[in-house]
Amino acid sequence: MRLNRKEVAELLKNVQGKILITTHKNPDGDAVGSSLGWFNFLKKMGKEVRIIYRDRVPFFFDFLPGIGNVEVLEEIKEKFDWVIITDVSDPKRTGFSEILAEKSLVIDHHITAEPFTDYAIVEPEISSTCELSYHIMKLIDENLIDMSVALPIYTGILTDTGGFNYSNTSPETHTVAAELLKKGVNPYEVYTNIFERNRINKLKLLELVLRTLSFELNQKVAHITLFKRFLEETGAYPEESEGFINYPRSIAGVEVAVFFKEIEGNSWKVSMRSKGRVNVAEVAKSMGGGGHRMAAGFEAEGSLEEIKRELLKKLEVALEKAHYENL
Ligand code: AMP
Ligand code: MN
Ligand code: MN
Repeated sequence: MRLNRKEVAELLKNVQGKILITTHKNPDGDAVGSSLGWFNFLKKMGKEVRIIYRDRVPFFFDFLPGIGNVEVLEEIKEKFDWVIITDVSDPKRTGFSEILAEKSLVIDHHITAEPFTDYAIVEPEISSTCELSYHIMKLIDENLIDMSVALPIYTGILTDTGGFNYSNTSPETHTVAAELLKKGVNPYEVYTNIFERNRINKLKLLELVLRTLSFELNQKVAHITLFKRFLEETGAYPEESEGFINYPRSIAGVEVAVFFKEIEGNSWKVSMRSKGRVNVAEVAKSMGGGGHRMAAGFEAEGSLEEIKRELLKKLEVALEKAHYENL
């Protein structure tokens, strides 16, 4: 059942029993920020909460209050009364084969969302799950939004908007950010913690990945590739490639950037970013994934060549469609 903000606020005021909070695998800033923000907030409400992820928290989020509470498990065997899942609307993307809970709630902002839970709030227009969560928290009890909540929430807004630069940034996003700053968030501190603690390994990885830069479809598509061996060669962590895709997207004339990441021999994670004309969420969805109009992704099995060929066919059609829509 789809709920509005007020209904979610009422629901969360009344949840009882053991509550589990989780998010998507390979958690990004919005995933960590929203799940940890809710964990700290619900604790303040006096609820019994646990926070469990499938994948570890990237080190650059280690400054967030309460981050040490995150448990990383391959499967969740215990049964809960409630599960709250943030920043994802696809059970596969939680990384868990099964989550046992009496009742479930999704809080998300993906345009391709098809909620699978008892309750869901999905606002595709909003910048981030964190911004949406903040509005709901305010409806519950603004006084409970202290630094332990404000800091993770600000972090998710910052990362999902690319530092308040992407088109999902609205006047409301800035208003929320201003309110969070008034609560004590220091933007420079958050920025330096996340973006200015790069390890040399990451820059070495960037060097190898940028060497793979190639163009297709009249230079409108630029792609880069991360082969697993690059991680071994540089000692970089997979999560340190976050943001690399902005380099191919930044090139003049490029409409779509693609980042192929080898997970295992024949298993790939593909990220796409659009400059706005092409709806990459639609393309990702047709490849079994999802996301937003300008940022989307999917996973695929097969050889890189096969995946590339199939994707480029779809991107060709999408570029043509975008061309006619924008005439
Ligand atoms: P990423 O490229 O991993 O940074 O993801 C960009 C956007 O696409 C995010 O909003 C993701 O949630 C979404 N996304 C990425 N991979 C998938 C997938 N396999 N299924 C659904 N959505 C995805
Ligand atoms: Mn996310
Ligand atoms: Mn998000």
